Amino acid sequence: MSKIAFIGLGNMGGPMALNLLKAGHALNVYDLNGTAVTSIAEAGARAAASAAAAVVDAEVVISMLPASRHVEGLYLGEGGLLAKIPADALVIDCSTIAPAAARKVAAAAAQRGLAMLDAPVSGGTAGATAGTLTFIVGGETEVLERARPILADMGKNIFHVGDSGAGQVAKLCNNMALGVIMAVTGEALALGVAHGLDAKVLSQMMAVSTGRSWATEVCNPWPGVLDNAPASRGYSGGFGNDLMLKDLGLAAEAAVGVGASIPLGELARNLYAMNSRAGNGGLDFSSVVKVVAGN
Ligand code: NAD
Repeated sequence: MSKIAFIGLGNMGGPMALNLLKAGHALNVYDLNGTAVTSIAEAGARAAASAAAAVVDAEVVISMLPASRHVEGLYLGEGGLLAKIPADALVIDCSTIAPAAARKVAAAAAQRGLAMLDAPVSGGTAGATAGTLTFIVGGETEVLERARPILADMGKNIFHVGDSGAGQVAKLCNNMALGVIMAVTGEALALGVAHGLDAKVLSQMMAVSTGRSWATEVCNPWPGVLDNAPASRGYSGGFGNDLMLKDLGLAAEAAVGVGASIPLGELARNLYAMNSRAGNGGLDFSSVVKVVAGN
């Protein structure tokens, strides 16, 4: 059992914190959104009045925040959390952020003698709830070995892909592929439907054919094809369009940094930007089908 401070209790952080509670850890939790804190506190966590209060006696600090600016804002600068975390604690940031931001925060943590990992996740809200997430880890091997039992309480696969920031690079590669695949799956279904095909039958065929993917089988973008997919509940819950847009922007930045060409990633970034401008930024990212299908 570890004393864990968990900061950021949104769509992902909330269920991840619940799994740590179920595994018997003692949790201090904090989020800017009081309702999110209350619901985890009702499950047995201690509600902290601030991030600083949450980390006072922490052995492990975990953050799950939207973007680079939130993570840098939390940990760095005057009044930043790194100055308040006990010296022997382990810090794990599970947010998806820029690799450069992850390296910056890890370097500042190291200056304070704190061990830190970037450990972004894959598996969506369903994986967070089921405790089957994939952790994509950047940092030192011995730090990962300290973190491994805690990560195993929230996930099923743990990949060590390199030093600080490498977890973020690998996560962006995965999400760039996902963003492109989701958009083209919506496009393919729209083409079939325009020819009078049934989206469900088309999806079932694709799911056992070479066009199969997570987008056809688990998070199908066409309403009514899969009962549990966000598309069948008005694209609510799931992985927000604007979070995918953020990740594709980070992938584009990462590509510029090394002179890589990512034509499909850039095209997909524009599609998610158009979906956001159409007012769908808060919907699940599979709502990009609205742009590609023109509905
Ligand atoms: P979310 O917007 O649902 O939750 C983020 C939470 O952070 C919110 O509750 C917000 O109030 C809180 N927050 C923001 N700044 C804070 C601060 N300074 N202190 C305390 N709390 C703060 O986002 P999410 O869907 O949980 O995603 C979190 C991260 O995980 C993102 O980086 C996202 O890209 C990544 N991710 C999400 C999914 C998914 O399916 N939703 C999957 C994999 C990775």
